[in-house]
Amino acid sequence: MSSLFHSLLSFALNTKMLHPMEVIQAAIARARSASGQAVSIEQLEGFVRQILGWREYMRGIYWARMPDYASLNHFGHTAGLPDFYWTAETRMNCLHTVISQSLTQAYAHHIQRLMITGNFALLAGIDPDEVDRWYLGIYMDAVQWVEIVNTRGMSQYADGGLVATKPYISSANYIHKMSDYCDRCHYRWRIPVGTRACPFNSFYWAFVHRHRQTLAGNPRVAMMVRTWDRMSAGKRDALLAQADHYRAALNTL
Ligand SMILES: Cc1cc2nc3c(=O)[nH]c(=O)nc-3n(C[C@H](O)[C@H](O)[C@H](O)COP(=O)(O)OP(=O)(O)OC[C@H]3O[C@@H](n4cnc5c(N)ncnc54)[C@H](O)[C@@H]3O)c2cc1C
Ligand code: SF4
Repeated sequence: MSSLFHSLLSFALNTKMLHPMEVIQAAIARARSASGQAVSIEQLEGFVRQILGWREYMRGIYWARMPDYASLNHFGHTAGLPDFYWTAETRMNCLHTVISQSLTQAYAHHIQRLMITGNFALLAGIDPDEVDRWYLGIYMDAVQWVEIVNTRGMSQYADGGLVATKPYISSANYIHKMSDYCDRCHYRWRIPVGTRACPFNSFYWAFVHRHRQTLAGNPRVAMMVRTWDRMSAGKRDALLAQADHYRAALNTL
């Protein structure tokens, strides 16, 4: 089930069929009702925070920072978006699954957008203009004021950390831990280098290498740079060569 425990309310909110306050009040009323006793305060707070917190925060950033925000590109990324974002034809099962679902249902939940499609685009160095165009074209809830701040800011860190406190990147380890995608994949999530090595692994370390200056100065992610520095020169070279090899064949992964 693609929506898991998510509400699927963003389309109705963004098209103004529902008012955010109406949704928040309904959730609170339900949690306080006799039949809502099973709803914990943490569950209620988490839901209200998405709407009152994140959604309004995105709106505030948009109105305060546009139109300049639309051309920010902190990392100077220039690569083209791989064709498989429009076809879902890739052997990387996480991307295949999330993109297929996005193309057919016009929906993906937040972590699919952030940690699968967004994570890969950031690690692969895709031009944020192209990433923006894709998210704006694909999702039923895509309205520029909320799409662009999530995409350029939260997911691509193109604003240099105005919205997000760190770049949201991960290797295959996180994807394996948080999903069942890796069990049915052509690539091997544990393997960093070689024919079946998961592309997220070498891309991740090549990203850390390329952007070490930004990352080393951020206490939330500086540890990644220290781990990279502790690797042997041979291991680092192999990872960088693997990433170059995959980057040259992006459309065929
Ligand atoms: C790269 C990227 C692009 C995104 N593009 C959009 C977009 O175009 N339009 C959009 O509405 N959301 C976008 N989001 C935010 C979020 O992913 C969606 O709001 C959410 O997945 C919608 O599904 P839902 O209604 O089931 O949400 P739930 O998980 O049930 O959350 C409840 C509500 O909280 C609000 N909300 C939660 N997180 C956010 C957030 N980060 N920003 C704004 N509102 C939030 C939404 O209105 C949502 O309906 C994007 C996130 C990422 C990482
Ligand atoms: S092995 Fe890599 S490409 Fe395959 S599903 Fe896992 S993270 Fe994605």
